[in-house]
Amino acid sequence: MPLFSKKDKYIRINPNRAIRETPQAKPEVPDELFSKCPGCKHTIYQKDLGSERICPNCGYTFRITAFERLSLIADENSFDELFTGIETTDPLRFPHYKEKLAQMREKTGLDEAVLTGTALIKGRKIALGIMDSNFIMASMGTVVGEKITRLFEYATEQELPVVLFTASGGARMQEGIMSLMQMAKTSAAVQRHSKAGLFYLTVLTDPTTGGVTASFAMEGDIILAEAQALVGFAGRRVIESTVREKLPDDFQKAEFLLEHGFVDAIVKRGELRDTIATLLSFHGGGL
Ligand SMILES: [Zn+2]
Repeated sequence: MPLFSKKDKYIRINPNRAIRETPQAKPEVPDELFSKCPGCKHTIYQKDLGSERICPNCGYTFRITAFERLSLIADENSFDELFTGIETTDPLRFPHYKEKLAQMREKTGLDEAVLTGTALIKGRKIALGIMDSNFIMASMGTVVGEKITRLFEYATEQELPVVLFTASGGARMQEGIMSLMQMAKTSAAVQRHSKAGLFYLTVLTDPTTGGVTASFAMEGDIILAEAQALVGFAGRRVIESTVREKLPDDFQKAEFLLEHGFVDAIVKRGELRDTIATLLSFHGGGL
């Protein structure tokens, strides 16, 4: 028996006229108009998220771009971008990697997965880095590592505090071992900055994982996090299959880390700017 009785794409209404069957039109909703909240699963009208991009229903903090973050944190027009135009040598000649980078630059307006420069926060000058998970999941390859290293070296030279918003899916697979080397390189630069007696603040945002967690993300003098941010080294499934135990539901969430002493405070997105300014006034100079 035929599975479908309809034999072709035409429905013959009038034998003298054939009209193309039109499938039921799906209501087209542009992605930008609505977002499904990963917290409460409700569909949220984008405008209701506001510039902070927080779910009005459950308080979930949506992931934001580096530029959105910049506008929430820094004094208006105070950002001077530094260390642009550094290109990867594509050491593994990874297939389609360069094309992918070009696409990402086009899509995000960033030259790599971290935005670096100097800015003012309530009049205090800082070296600022903001990672953006929209750029190949903010994975750390040679360029991300180099930009962060240069940011710390510049801050050491200029005696500036560093504020870094971390986000990352881990090391950049396309650059293999060269990506892993960035963990040691960035950590050494953080250490030199620290030895000079300068202040380093990290803000862990969703998701901060892999090699970034295992290096500069957790090396801050003070470590803040956003609510519900996923922070961890290896993924849940990898750990569960290694230790053969079921992990708690909130494992690797910012709240779990706070409870276990890995994070100093969870700060609401809308209060971050004030909190950072206060911490800078206590510890950081930057005037
Ligand atoms: Zn929600």
